[in-house]
Amino acid sequence: METKFIDLTDIKGQQKVVEEKIQMAADIIRSGGLAAIPTETVYGLGANALDAAAVRRIFEAKGRPQDNPLILHVPSAQWLPRFCESVPPLAYTLARNFWPGPLTMILKRKKPAVPDEVTAGLDTVGVRCPAHAVTIIRYAGVPIAAPSANLSGRPSCTTAADVAADMDGKIEAIVDGGPCTVGVESTIVDLTVSPPRLLRPGG
Ligand code: AMP
Ligand code: MG
Repeated sequence: METKFIDLTDIKGQQKVVEEKIQMAADIIRSGGLAAIPTETVYGLGANALDAAAVRRIFEAKGRPQDNPLILHVPSAQWLPRFCESVPPLAYTLARNFWPGPLTMILKRKKPAVPDEVTAGLDTVGVRCPAHAVTIIRYAGVPIAAPSANLSGRPSCTTAADVAADMDGKIEAIVDGGPCTVGVESTIVDLTVSPPRLLRPGG
């Protein structure tokens, strides 16, 4: 497959061109394709999280074990009730303070709209609102499932060139948003237990 390179780095200030390119990436994702997208942590390999076949392709492209769940990326906390049966008040408090940003929350009781492929069969769901990619998610109009855009077992990618080394020819598009500012994975907090537990210290 030919991978399309969508460069957002050379068009700063050209708002219309930026919007067209972001829409192109968003359309690829909404229609079942895979696009590597910049976030503030590391580059993510994004697919429409509501499309089980597209999500399965993430695992294939990365060689990722299927029991390793993916994080669901949303444009704001307002979307959480669509994907989670009961959103705890603490989730909204954390979202208000840390979203958009490098914080992932694990919530209880995913809704059936979220395919089992995303959560690796778990009843919980990991959610995050990333700073940089939030516009792409909004344009796509669907949540985006995205693990890091590297081959499984290789280092996470913080530039589009690193992503290309692992993913060129395997996915529909790579969006170049420049180097990731945080450079390490998100912090993960488990809100399904009381008190909440830090699962992964991150950015
Ligand atoms: P990443 O590899 O940065 O995309 O983060 C994915 C990690 O988030 C997984 O390896 C899990 O540690 C964690 N995670 C995602 N979803 C869940 C979930 N539903 N329950 C528990 N942990 C999760
Ligand atoms: Mg990873």
